[in-house]
Amino acid sequence: MNIQSFDVTIIGGGMVGLALASALANSELKVAVIEGKTPPMIIPDEHEIRVSALSAASKNLLTNIGAWPYIAQNRHQPYSNMSVWEKDSFGKIAFDASSIKSANEASLGAIVENSIVQQALWQAADAAPNVTLFHPFHCQSVAMGERETWLTLVGASDDNKHVTQSLTSKLVVGADGANSWLRKQADIPMTSWDYGHHALVATIETDMPHDNTARQIFSPDGILAFLPLNEPNLSSIVWSQSPDSAQQLRDCDDIAFNRALTAAFDNRLGYCQVKSARGVFPLTMRFSQSFAKERIALIGDAAHTIHPLAGLGVNLGFLDAAALAQELLKNHKQGKDIGELANLRHFERWRKSDAIQMIAAMEGFKQLFAGDNPLKKLVRDIGLVAVDKITPAKEVFIKHAMGLTGDLPELSKSVLSKADS
Ligand SMILES: Cc1cc2nc3c(=O)[nH]c(=O)nc-3n(C[C@H](O)[C@H](O)[C@H](O)COP(=O)(O)OP(=O)(O)OC[C@H]3O[C@@H](n4cnc5c(N)ncnc54)[C@H](O)[C@@H]3O)c2cc1C
Repeated sequence: MNIQSFDVTIIGGGMVGLALASALANSELKVAVIEGKTPPMIIPDEHEIRVSALSAASKNLLTNIGAWPYIAQNRHQPYSNMSVWEKDSFGKIAFDASSIKSANEASLGAIVENSIVQQALWQAADAAPNVTLFHPFHCQSVAMGERETWLTLVGASDDNKHVTQSLTSKLVVGADGANSWLRKQADIPMTSWDYGHHALVATIETDMPHDNTARQIFSPDGILAFLPLNEPNLSSIVWSQSPDSAQQLRDCDDIAFNRALTAAFDNRLGYCQVKSARGVFPLTMRFSQSFAKERIALIGDAAHTIHPLAGLGVNLGFLDAAALAQELLKNHKQGKDIGELANLRHFERWRKSDAIQMIAAMEGFKQLFAGDNPLKKLVRDIGLVAVDKITPAKEVFIKHAMGLTGDLPELSKSVLSKADS
């Protein structure tokens, strides 16, 4: 059996795992990425229905690790305005990037198809001499030693032959998504609850142009977001609602769907027409009780999943990746063992506290807007209008939406000059 040694092995070459690999590119650390699928390297003509609203902080990271130029050359849509309102009420709030001078940003963020982000990061990681990508490879077993871990992988070679491979590494990172194989192997317990919502996603053409504005409407039945795509009348929707109604709307014919969507969106952009397949995703809150163990770290959806109402999931995962890279590079420079739990503790405290605050905030939002108790509705409408009118409060809100608050890793704070990086 072939055996190779690495400093860091990342299980999962999704957006978050590849961001970590690219953040460690060109360092002294030898990095492996194990990905179960081979990402398609061709961008299809049709928009993918899975998109992410990337924050300004995520754009900073993607720029600093060399992935943004690929995204900039391909389909993406910066958005400079955001509008949030409650159905059948006076409660509304609107933001625009130009009103926040201190952030020095022309946009609040960008909507990008997940596969384009993954391709950009794949290319950045693949170009790094210290990163090896194993794909399509799956992990078969993991064993922890005192100074290293042993992983056995199975996969296919370039000439499509079945291959078994062994890797040793000082640290194994689980970036293998919500049902993380590594988290289960390491017996790391998880707290979880069902949000009672399924998210329906699709690409929609509207009569009126989106004007580079991300829009979201809250109603007692659910939360509907319209995210602008790179054509003026095309948006991607995330419609969170009860599992039964999400299923009905996925299965009904196009005309019934278009009517229901146009009405749910208060006719804001005129008649809406579905232009893609409709996908439905169950929404679950997951929070891993540890983000680190001896020789193990968890990042991205492997560590936490949250309601997509604020479009934060992958943005949080990118902060995990940037924070872990910063800690690993610092510890390596100081001659410390990068896989020792004591040296992973700071990363764990840092990222757990951020994730817990976001989970609590999402729960608060979801509960606040659930149901149609008239008193609760009056309180939240007054709150929305107040934030809309009070400039300092609004600035704080906008900076949160841009991901530019809190204890950010260096790679996410701003675009670094070559000399800084
Ligand atoms: C409807 C919806 C809308 C969303 N919208 C937004 C948004 O607007 N903004 C935002 O920030 N977030 C959003 N999110 C969340 C975001 O999609 C996730 O947080 C993000 O995709 C997580 O990325 P990841 O790399 O951690 O995990 P994943 O994307 O799940 O990647 C895991 C990777 O690991 C690989 N893998 C898994 N197991 C193994 C194994 N054993 N061996 C090898 N490889 C393995 C998989 O093939 C995959 O490539 C949304 C989520 C949903 C459901």
